[in-house]
Amino acid sequence: MTTSEVPAPVSVLPGVTATGAPRGIDDATLDRITSNLLGPIPGAAAPESAGTAALTAARTTSPLASTSGLPGPTAGVSSAATPFPGAPIPAAPYLDEAIHQSQIPAPASIAAAAAQTAAPGAATSVAPSSAAIPASPYFDAGIHQSQIPAPSSVAAAAPATGITEAAAGPIDWSPPLPANVEIHDGSLPRLFDDAPLSGKPPQDGAPSYYFLTPILATRPEAAAPAAPFQRRLFDVNDIRRDFPILEERVHGKRLVWLDNAATTQKPQAVIDRLVHYYSHEYSNVHRAAHELAARSTDAYESAREKVQRFIGAGSAEEIVFVRGTTEAVNLVAASYGRKFLGEGDEIVLSTLEHHSNIVPWQFLAEQVGAVIRVVPVTDRGEVLLSDFERTLTTRTKFVSLTHVSNALGTILPVREMIDIAHRRGAKVLIDGAQAVSHFPVNVQSLDADFYAFSGHKLFGPSAIGVLYGKKALLDEMPPWQGGGNMIQRVTFEHSTFADPPSRFEAGTAALGPAVGLGAAVDYLERIGMQNVATHERALLAYATEALARIPGVRLIGTAPEKAGVVSFITDKIPAEEMGKILDQDGIAVRAGHHCAQPTMDRFGLEATVRPSLALYNTHDEIDQLERAVRRALQK
Ligand code: PMP
Repeated sequence: MTTSEVPAPVSVLPGVTATGAPRGIDDATLDRITSNLLGPIPGAAAPESAGTAALTAARTTSPLASTSGLPGPTAGVSSAATPFPGAPIPAAPYLDEAIHQSQIPAPASIAAAAAQTAAPGAATSVAPSSAAIPASPYFDAGIHQSQIPAPSSVAAAAPATGITEAAAGPIDWSPPLPANVEIHDGSLPRLFDDAPLSGKPPQDGAPSYYFLTPILATRPEAAAPAAPFQRRLFDVNDIRRDFPILEERVHGKRLVWLDNAATTQKPQAVIDRLVHYYSHEYSNVHRAAHELAARSTDAYESAREKVQRFIGAGSAEEIVFVRGTTEAVNLVAASYGRKFLGEGDEIVLSTLEHHSNIVPWQFLAEQVGAVIRVVPVTDRGEVLLSDFERTLTTRTKFVSLTHVSNALGTILPVREMIDIAHRRGAKVLIDGAQAVSHFPVNVQSLDADFYAFSGHKLFGPSAIGVLYGKKALLDEMPPWQGGGNMIQRVTFEHSTFADPPSRFEAGTAALGPAVGLGAAVDYLERIGMQNVATHERALLAYATEALARIPGVRLIGTAPEKAGVVSFITDKIPAEEMGKILDQDGIAVRAGHHCAQPTMDRFGLEATVRPSLALYNTHDEIDQLERAVRRALQK
């Protein structure tokens, strides 16, 4: 089969499952959500949430005031580098200035919403006008709160050796999620699912229905008093102060940046790091034996080490700096692919891939005579493991999958998929472009052979990205671009090549952007990716609910596990036009095919409107989005 005959995502493959998931929300409920028949959530005047009062009492100061988080000399590299003294430390984003309150939906409103969902009559109730948008369970006394769980569950989640407020020494800013929140390496707690968490039955009286599943509800044992520990607060307002561009006004309105799947904004810590690098450290790296070359090499290589730690790679040699996800995929296809794939070998992709995880494989397939096979998705936008297994054959040599769909937000069960592929002897690349900014990723526990992502979607600069590859694989791979930096010895007759990662970094690298990416990773680690995941998870549920209840809005992509994205269309206004209307309100969203045309084709669409979230987005911004969409549709 030639690449021009690559099968259309849905029709050609066996095992297409048109309807629901094997678990979670039932189809009737889902239909109500997706076709917007779900009425307003009663219990609108949400009573104070369970954790509010107790949290109000608890205040702390940030230990970050004494934590520089700044780069120092790197072991094994020149110690001559300056340790970035000039950079201001960003305001501790988790310092508790405001009163933090729990995002746990108030029990009464949950129960009411559950009844609403269950009652057939409710399906036809009229959604409220913009003037009377019901308060959500997350809204409390006009103040949107951070996403931290109620103290009892937080405390219960603290490790037995929990850090106390008085504890000296470094604070673990990557604490485990509360024990009652299921998170498994790159996956989030389910959004549209009422399956009991971790196989344990829900607590008595706990609601059991779609996305208001009590994400943070405590298990019985979680209520037990636990040792005091350092509360890890996530104050979104403090986070926002770290991002100067969020103060920007567009069309006279305050910017609402909901185009994070396209690119993310940059914190002051990253901006300052770049200024310092170019002011005090800049030089080309690796070659010259002078002070600035040493400083610059330190800065560049320490960024590599930061990235290694951030994604849990085994060594810094497994981190190749590239231009972005696109280049990473092209590198693997060109280097690994051309060496190890041949005539009739099969490359498996999912329907949900970004073009950058399709086209490089088409190039390869054309060059070596390989065949591309595509895993279908359900009507909810999920990839089922059974469909995946059916798509693999004895000829499957390579599997390349997105971790999170940029068009729909679906989180693919990549760990299980990697397991399955490995059992068939195939290697796997995971496109993590839409994953790493939303939840913790550990490439070793995923057992990914390759993992790719882009710096600009991770609050870092553009023109820098990462290809993680298992050392044994990188060692076997030939270079894909020739030039300086990547060689051992060159004669006109023959050249030999450097070890990875240099072998794959021909020419002068994106030095400043790499250093900036290191600063972005530092910034995120100070916040804790689990905290980011918890915040965004609540925000995504809130946004889903807000958009689903607008008459005339249809959500596209309602998989049980999602991150970052709510895609929708309306019955009145084409997606691109809606994008322009929202822009007039200062709300930046992407509208179009999102470089995922096969995904659009699967749903019979040309385009969707795609608000996409990041750690600095707020419930207020979602309210603004909801009001703006309602206004547009009422005109
Ligand atoms: N994969 C996914 C899932 C993406 O969302 C994107 C960017 N939209 C890419 C790959 C390509 O990333 P980049 O343009 O930074 O190379």
